[in-house]
Amino acid sequence: MSDCVFCKIASGEIPSEFVYRDEDVFVIRDLNPQAPSHLLIIPTRHVVSAADVSDPALWSIVMSATTKVARSLGLDGTKEDNGFRIVINTGVQGGQTVSHLHLHLLSGRNFGWPPG
Ligand code: AMP
Ligand code: ZN
Repeated sequence: MSDCVFCKIASGEIPSEFVYRDEDVFVIRDLNPQAPSHLLIIPTRHVVSAADVSDPALWSIVMSATTKVARSLGLDGTKEDNGFRIVINTGVQGGQTVSHLHLHLLSGRNFGWPPG
């Protein structure tokens, strides 16, 4: 999609540092981090939101990449200080601001519940 910021990052039109990349997905640092570590896991193909995923294989791709990156950061949820949170904001009420599916992987602090 021509005016989508994540498509522009995927194509290289907007230069970005990739924490991880394969043929289906890429991972970047969030521009406005909400935790000491805040990564975005983004499918290369433009899909608007979680509500628009028609191929369930895409969930396998993005979740596998997310847990792979979490493990590479030493995060496995087994200790008091190495848990993490995965967030998918969806739609306006869900707080989604970029209309290209992405998962937030947040870590490095304690997270409250319920979320804000
Ligand atoms: P959401 O509000 O769930 O749609 O998340 C979009 C996220 O993308 C926000 O946390 C933004 O800070 C982040 N963001 C927007 N533009 C960029 C960019 N060029 N590089 C990295 N992160 C970005
Ligand atoms: Zn896009």
